[in-house]
Amino acid sequence: MRNAYLDALGIDRWVARHGAQEPAALPETADEPRPEVARERVAPAAPPAPVPLGPITDWGVLRERVAGCTACDLCKTRTQTVFGVGNTRAEWLIVGEAPGAEEDRQGEPFVGRAGQLLNAMLLAIGLPRETVFIANILKCRPPGNRDPKPEEVSRCLPFLSAQIALLKPKIILAVGRIAAQNLLATDAPLARLRGKLHHFGEANTPLVITYHPAYLLRTPADKRKAWEDLKFARATLARLAGTN
Ligand code: SF4
Repeated sequence: MRNAYLDALGIDRWVARHGAQEPAALPETADEPRPEVARERVAPAAPPAPVPLGPITDWGVLRERVAGCTACDLCKTRTQTVFGVGNTRAEWLIVGEAPGAEEDRQGEPFVGRAGQLLNAMLLAIGLPRETVFIANILKCRPPGNRDPKPEEVSRCLPFLSAQIALLKPKIILAVGRIAAQNLLATDAPLARLRGKLHHFGEANTPLVITYHPAYLLRTPADKRKAWEDLKFARATLARLAGTN
């Protein structure tokens, strides 16, 4: 079934094989909405410290808080908030940047071609989309898909922190520069953040960085590096599980 799914997407070479980790090309389409090539060179200002949200112990309450949030100006231009989607008992949390136009319309993160590629990337390491939880740094779409502003991140990041506190993931995979820099509170380029084990938050959750699938659609030469990142994340989780 998994192979059929990957074949349907034209990404059969992303199938994980026992003992055969060699990656290969992903589909070389380039219609993604959030180009990251030029933006890789722009280091953002450090965001202000996130505003504490207070303890939230229930997914429903948190979802309602996000849906009704007017803490930054993005509430004026959104169609709807994009809370996140997936298994609330997932070991893996995938964190992206912010909703794009289609995510804003559908209310779900990572839909469209970038979402399909993310699904394929996850499947390649044995993770169907429904087994992980997927969320963004921002829950509302920045107009024109511009970069999030520091004050927007500051207002919204507590929601992601609350999601992490409820989910208690065993590992976080941050996709793209914006997610990586904001989770790590750094302006280091993505190339320097990849290939290392980081940690996030009070729970010291293991955090691995890779490219945004939208970027990979535009820059297929980096798909091989993304595959290395995924293998690194999978091996890290296996290693940590073995030490428990
Ligand atoms: S982006 Fe976040 S902080 Fe801003 S209005 Fe949306 S939910 Fe609230």
